[in-house]
Amino acid sequence: MERHVICGRCGKELEIKKIVIKYFDHEFRKDVPCCPECGQAFISREFAEGKVREAEMELEDK
Ligand SMILES: [Zn+2]
Repeated sequence: MERHVICGRCGKELEIKKIVIKYFDHEFRKDVPCCPECGQAFISREFAEGKVREAEMELEDK
């Protein structure tokens, strides 16, 4: 499941890297795209959920 993702900040194509996510007592290993330039990791689903949450919060604030 590899996608070509471009860093919005640098315009560089992200490289797939394996990272370990610690969630309470559990550890998950995930292949996530990381920017080789700024090191920003993009975790698609979590990222999308965060976006939705941000959007909802903005709507509630206004
Ligand atoms: Zn970048």
